Amino acid sequence: MHFIDFRSDTVTKPTEEMRRAMFTAEVGDDVYGEDPTINRLEALAAKMLGKEDALFVTSGTQGNQVAILTHCRPGDEVILEAESHIFFYEAGAASALAGVQTRPIRGHKGAMDPSDVKKAIRSDDIHHPYSGLICLENTHNKAGGKVIPIETMKAIYEIAKEKEIPVHLDGARLFNAAVALGVPVTEFTQYVDTVQVCLSKGLSAPVGSVLAGSKSFIKEARKWRKRLGGGLRQAGVLAAPGIIALEKMVDRLAEDHANARQLAEGLAAVPGLHVDVAGVETNIVLCDIKGTGLSNKEFLTRLKEAGILAVPFDEGVIRFVTHREVTSDMVQTAIERIRQLVR
Ligand SMILES: *Cc1c(COP(=O)(O)O)cnc(C)c1O
Repeated sequence: MHFIDFRSDTVTKPTEEMRRAMFTAEVGDDVYGEDPTINRLEALAAKMLGKEDALFVTSGTQGNQVAILTHCRPGDEVILEAESHIFFYEAGAASALAGVQTRPIRGHKGAMDPSDVKKAIRSDDIHHPYSGLICLENTHNKAGGKVIPIETMKAIYEIAKEKEIPVHLDGARLFNAAVALGVPVTEFTQYVDTVQVCLSKGLSAPVGSVLAGSKSFIKEARKWRKRLGGGLRQAGVLAAPGIIALEKMVDRLAEDHANARQLAEGLAAVPGLHVDVAGVETNIVLCDIKGTGLSNKEFLTRLKEAGILAVPFDEGVIRFVTHREVTSDMVQTAIERIRQLVR
């Protein structure tokens, strides 16, 4: 069966153009800095993200963890949102690898209140850890692809600068946020010191993320990537589709957002399902199924039998993600099948 796959935008396969670019990519040993395609991707990413330099990393998790390792020392405290990916979905890497302790702050629609961040910053006291880093996430996955407002990022950045604490942005889906607001990504990145962006989600590259920051930060980050075994050799074959992702796949994210809205509206009209349609800002739809009387497992089994895939999120909440391989017609088909299966 050919599934309509709403599990994640990570399921997108490389385009024909990406595969051709992989085949013909000029390569060299990147640990010697000699892979021209990687060098081109890193220069392009730095420019687009408004930072001095950038580093190609194997995954979003590696990008975030290299950032924490580079910014912090063991025993530092990292302030982050209570449902952020770094806190929730990175297998405890921040403590396992960097030896930091996390300080989760409950946000509203994924956004931490700047005054809560300010209160969480440690004072100069022998009993306290150092506040080593503040992490933001935009768009916020667990909150349902919400865009963290630029003003909120600015306010947190100003507090951080006053206290001389660096700010890292988990921008796995930052381009979705930029497309949703119709602004360049630099509107967001001007208020952070470092940023990680995934190439392999909605942007459709097969592998990889980029981490961007100052020249001195990236120099140190490159060493941490090496320590983690992330020093790659002729990885230009992986960077080539990443260049296409950044140059050609950003604008089309608007289609994914339109399809997500279509899906949200369709599901909201199904008896027993509840969707906050107005809250669908990008390519993620959270659907509350409690009114159907079905468990997550029962609902997902029925979905699968109807040729549709999605993932459980919270108790009674299912996440649907739109992406390049789900068309508007497929969304319509999915809505009709779901209407049947909850009856
Ligand atoms: C997917 C994701 C990551 C991590 O990306 P991987 O490439 O899967 O390691 C980080 N942060 C957020 C918000 C994500 O959605």
